Amino acid sequence: MAALALPQRVCVVGMGGLGCPASLGLALAGVPHLTLVDYDVVERSNLHRQPWHHEPDVGRLKVASAAEKLARTFPLLGVDALATPLTALNAAALLSGHDVVVDGTDGADTKFLLSDTCKRLGIPLIHGGVLRFEGLAFRIEPGGPCLRCLFETPPVDAPSCAQAGVFGAMAGLVGGLQARLALTPNERPAEAWLHVLDAGASPRRVRLRQRADCRVCVQERAA
Ligand SMILES: [Zn+2]
Repeated sequence: MAALALPQRVCVVGMGGLGCPASLGLALAGVPHLTLVDYDVVERSNLHRQPWHHEPDVGRLKVASAAEKLARTFPLLGVDALATPLTALNAAALLSGHDVVVDGTDGADTKFLLSDTCKRLGIPLIHGGVLRFEGLAFRIEPGGPCLRCLFETPPVDAPSCAQAGVFGAMAGLVGGLQARLALTPNERPAEAWLHVLDAGASPRRVRLRQRADCRVCVQERAA
């Protein structure tokens, strides 16, 4: 197993079902600084899978609610709360200066934007996704496979978590796994393990390599 390497500054994008448990896991591991990015507000339907947000937080910004709970639980933790959407215009500026980025978003376009931007910046990204009773996660490293090596383009008509529903505990499992992956570089830089979780089956992992015709990784190899 690769050695744990405690990142000093981690950016968690999305403070929902994945970002809440991921930020808890990172703070528990001793990461000294977290940047939280989310422009969404807490809805009552979020509460079963987003443990930083409680009934009185409904209507508040998720980053404000999460930053408050994190600061209360971990007084020495540095937290920046950015209530802004991640866009192609601001992604590089927001993510620069972090050692690792954790993808806690719900939406294919934002996930591809994160993958493309982190590849360009040379920052490891912990991809995660959860839908119904299933979840997956993998660590995207410089020199290794990216999200486009797995899925060439964002899927059309993919349902969001809100549309398809999410088993709350599965979001907790995947978010916790993302925190773990944020602490652990891939064993071989050119390879990644795709972790697949299914509430009805044993966890499994699938070896990923860069796809020869991935347009993002082609550019990385040429740089
Ligand atoms: Zn790629």
